[in-house]
Amino acid sequence: MSAETTAVKSDFIRTAVREDLASGRFTYVRTRFPPEPNGYLHIGHAKAMHIDFEIAREFGGTCNLRFDDTNPLKEEQEYVDAIIEDVRWLGYQWDGLFFASDYFEQLYEFAVKLIKKGKAYVCDLSPDELREYRGTLTTPGRESPWRNRSVEENLDLFARMRAGEFPEGSRTLRAKIDMASGNINLRDPVMYRIIRAPHHRTGTKWCIYPTYDFAHGQSDSIEGITHSLCSLEYEDHRPLYEWFLRELEIFAPRQIEFARLNLSYTVLSKRKLIQLVREGYVSGWDDPRMPTLRGLRRRGYTPSAIRDFCARIGVAKADSMVDIAMLEHSLRDELNRTAPRVMAVLRPLRVVLENYPEDKVEHLEAINNPEDPSAGTRLVPFSRVLYIEQDDFMENPPPKFYRLAPGREVRLRYGYFIRCVDVVKDAQGNIVELRCTYDPQTRGGNAPDGRKVKATIHWVSAAHAIPIEARLYDHLFTRPDPDNTEEGQTFLDYLNPRSLEVVTGFAEPCLADSPVGKHYQFERLGYFVVDPDSRPGHLVFNRSVTLKDAWARANQNG
Ligand code: ATP
Ligand code: MG
Repeated sequence: MSAETTAVKSDFIRTAVREDLASGRFTYVRTRFPPEPNGYLHIGHAKAMHIDFEIAREFGGTCNLRFDDTNPLKEEQEYVDAIIEDVRWLGYQWDGLFFASDYFEQLYEFAVKLIKKGKAYVCDLSPDELREYRGTLTTPGRESPWRNRSVEENLDLFARMRAGEFPEGSRTLRAKIDMASGNINLRDPVMYRIIRAPHHRTGTKWCIYPTYDFAHGQSDSIEGITHSLCSLEYEDHRPLYEWFLRELEIFAPRQIEFARLNLSYTVLSKRKLIQLVREGYVSGWDDPRMPTLRGLRRRGYTPSAIRDFCARIGVAKADSMVDIAMLEHSLRDELNRTAPRVMAVLRPLRVVLENYPEDKVEHLEAINNPEDPSAGTRLVPFSRVLYIEQDDFMENPPPKFYRLAPGREVRLRYGYFIRCVDVVKDAQGNIVELRCTYDPQTRGGNAPDGRKVKATIHWVSAAHAIPIEARLYDHLFTRPDPDNTEEGQTFLDYLNPRSLEVVTGFAEPCLADSPVGKHYQFERLGYFVVDPDSRPGHLVFNRSVTLKDAWARANQNG
C-alpha cells in the first residue's frame, strides 16, 4: 500500500487543527498555498502544497492559491502562468485564486488605520541607515529620529508617498513596536517601501508596495484563512504576524510552521535555481536534473509519485535532510507497477549468429509487465544479426563475470541460448563484432538436455531496431549538502561534471511512435521516458531512475 492511501494521518499540524475545531476557535478549515511568482515551483513547494491542500481536504475545508506578488522587481507574469500550470499538474485544485495585489487598496486602508492609532510612522532613514539603526542579535536597535511624527504629518506623508512625490528608497512606512525587542522582526519593521517599477498586474497604479510581513497576514485574514501553514523560517515572523492582526482588530488566522524540505544532492532555493538557469549550468527550468516540478516532470516523475513522496516524508517541526533516494524510490515503486517492459541496447555490440539463416525472422513472445498480467504480451522480432550491450561481453572475464565471453553460453531474454565462437576486431584492436552460434533447441529459454547458463542478457534485432538517444542522468551535485559550502567556495563548486551522459543505441521496433511522456522500463537498465526533444525517426529518452533501489535496501526494516 502506498503511503498516500494510508487512512489516518497525524502530526503536530493536524493535531492543532483538530484542537482548534474542538475548542471552537474556528468552525471551519481554510488554508492557502502562497507562492511568490519569482521563479518556478520545486519539490519543496510540492511538500508545502501537499500539506496545504491535503489538510484542507481531510477536514472538509478549502484551500486557496494566492500569489504573494508584493515585489514588482522580482515578479513576472511568466512565473504566474507556470505556477498555475504546475499546481494543476501536481493534481491540486484550489478553491479561490487570489493575488496579494488584489488587496493593495485594502492594505493601504489598514496602514492608514495603524497610523491613526499611532502605531505606524513615516521614516526618512535611507535603506543603509535603516539597517544600521536596526541593531543586531546582541545589540538593541536605535529609535528613528522620525519615530515621533504626529499622526497628521504621518497621514500626509503617507498619502504623498502613494501619490509619487518622493524618490525610490527615500521614505518608508514603519510599524511602531519596540526597537529593543529581542526579536529583530519587531524592531519597527518596514510596512511599505517606495518602488518605482511597474507591477505585472497593477501596472503603474502603485509606487508604494507592502512588505511580505505587512501583506501576508492581512491577506490571510481577508480570505478567512484559518490555518496559515508555512515553513520554519517564518517562525520568527509570527509575533509580527499576530501583532498586525491584533492592532488592526481583524480576523486572526493561526500561523503554524513546518520544516522546509531539504533534499540531498540538490539545492532548493529559488535564488540558486535561477542562477543555475541564467548562467547556463543546466538547459533551463525544465532540465531533467532540476528539482523543479517541470524538471521532475521531464525527467519522468509522475504527479502521483511526487505526492506519494510527500506523504512518506510526513510533516516534522525540525529541519532535516531527506535522502534523494527516497524520492527516486517513490517513482520506481510506481513505474514498477505501471511501466511496460521493453528491450533497448544503449552501448551496442554487434552479434552475428553464424548458424541462423540469413533471411529468417522469428517473432518471440515477450511479457509486457510481470507485475500486471493484464498488460499482456507482444512479439519481438529476432534475426541473424543482433545488438547486445557492450558491458555484457568480456574477452577476458574475471571470476565473477557470468555473462558472455569467448566459448561461453548465455541466454537471450525470451530467445535462445547463444555461444560466442569468435571475436572480430578492427585495426586498432577494438572489438567490433562477436560471432556466435545459437541452439535452435533452446527457444523459450531452456535446453532440453537440462544444461544451465548463468546469465540472461537483453538484445535487439539489428534489422528491426530503431535508433534512440538516451540521456543518462546522475545527481546535479557531487555533495549531499551543496548548500553547506567551505570557505571560499560556492555551491557551484560542487556541480557534478558527469551529471549527464548522452548515448545512442537501439530499441525494439514497438517503441516507434511513442508519444512524449510515455514511460518504459528498459529491461536491466532502468526506467525511461520519452523527451520532448524527440522528432520523427529520432526518439530521445531520459533515464528517470535506475532499477537499483538503494533506499529500499537501506530501509528494509523501516
Ligand atoms: P525562496 O527560495 O526565494 O526563499 P520560497 O521557496 O520561500 O522562496 P515561496 O514562493 O515564498 O518560495 O514559497 C511558497 C510556499 O512554499 C511558502 O509557504 C513556503 O513556506 C513553501 N516552501 C518553499 N520552499 C519550501 C521547501 N523547501 N519546503 C517546504 N516548503 C517550502
Ligand atoms: Mg518565500
